[in-house]
Amino acid sequence: MGPVQLSPQFQPDGEESEKKAQEMIQITIDKGTNRFEWKHQRSDGEEFWAEIMLTRLTIGNSNMIYVTWKDIDDEKKNHLKLQESQDKLQQLNKTLEDRVKQRTSELEEISSNFEYLFNNTLEAVGLFRNNMCIDINEAGVKLFRFKTKEDALGLTNLDFIADGSIELVKSKLNQNHTKPYETNALKADGTIFPVLIKGYNSTMQNKLTRVVSVIDISELKAKELELKKLNDELTNLTNIDPLTGAHNRRYFYEISKQLIALAGRDKQPLSVAMIDIDDFKSVNDTYGHDVGDKVLKALVDVVYKNIRNSDVVIRFGGEEFILLFPNTDIEQANTIMSKIRQIIEQNDLVKDICFTISIGLSEYHHNEQNIDKAVKKAGDALYLAKNRGKNRIEIS
Ligand code: GH3
Ligand code: MG
Ligand code: MG
Repeated sequence: MGPVQLSPQFQPDGEESEKKAQEMIQITIDKGTNRFEWKHQRSDGEEFWAEIMLTRLTIGNSNMIYVTWKDIDDEKKNHLKLQESQDKLQQLNKTLEDRVKQRTSELEEISSNFEYLFNNTLEAVGLFRNNMCIDINEAGVKLFRFKTKEDALGLTNLDFIADGSIELVKSKLNQNHTKPYETNALKADGTIFPVLIKGYNSTMQNKLTRVVSVIDISELKAKELELKKLNDELTNLTNIDPLTGAHNRRYFYEISKQLIALAGRDKQPLSVAMIDIDDFKSVNDTYGHDVGDKVLKALVDVVYKNIRNSDVVIRFGGEEFILLFPNTDIEQANTIMSKIRQIIEQNDLVKDICFTISIGLSEYHHNEQNIDKAVKKAGDALYLAKNRGKNRIEIS
């Protein structure tokens, strides 16, 4: 039997056993010895590994080959298993390495995104640890007028706040407040400016860090102020008293001139009523100023409900009103005002509050230059009404 009968058709490296056996014999002839591993096949077909040692023997003129076998099947199998485990381990290592690489690059991306956002957001953002600034972005350096970022590092939260606002900010910090709030901040050069502050706690590198963003609201505040001024001007322009909705004193002089001119032209009467709330001070003292305001408003509402559109209501002083009744003589004015006085006396127009008014009436005379005399007479009549016990009308 030759080696071919004792071997599978192919060796594990894919070479045909017959051809490879010839090569091995040739090497032995050439070199004298040849040692190699070989896959053999037993007669029952089972394959096994052997280590083969071929030695050339020359006896006389003939060459012979001396063969020794060593069964290395177990050894080989163990070796193969080891190899397999090592391959697997290597593969695992590689997978792990790849994952670490991927995670690192993800983290690098997140951190560079954060860095980018931190430095490029228009909002000033600072990071504080144990109430100390550990980082501030470029917008923050600019907003607070630091020369360099390093000037801000190590400052406490309160170093960024104007004196008058420190207590407020302290209490917000103590509550770990997260809702935005307005306060006054302090720039490095001492300028105080209004800001909107938002802060929240976060964990960075396993340490509690407060992220604080600051928005300069100077412009907004200036606009608000401007708007308020415009509103005030508008109210003045419209000549309306904002509390009661009656006309204001400025309008009184304007409208009285027009009404006198009309009364003169049309030869029509013009009556004047002066109203003052009785004991109004005690309403304020007992129920508070807000309730007093409601009483003023309730009075004006009742008056408007009971007069004509052409009649004019003026808030002349605090709780003192003048009514002008065009085309109305003093008797007619008396009727209207009596009705109003009674309504006020009989209803609690402001819940649970009873109040009364005193009224002085007068009539403008066509020969008078202006309304002053009629107003003075109405005032005198009012004074009389007060002296005669209040909650009444006097005519002068
Ligand atoms: P009299 O019966 O003599 O008129 O007494 P009085 O208490 O009504 O008069 P007095 O002049 O002593 O007080 C008027 C009060 O009106 C005092 C003032 O604080 C109050 N007052 C003036 N303007 C307002 C206002 O806009 N709102 C409120 N709530 N009170 C006002
Ligand atoms: Mg008064
Ligand atoms: Mg009064």
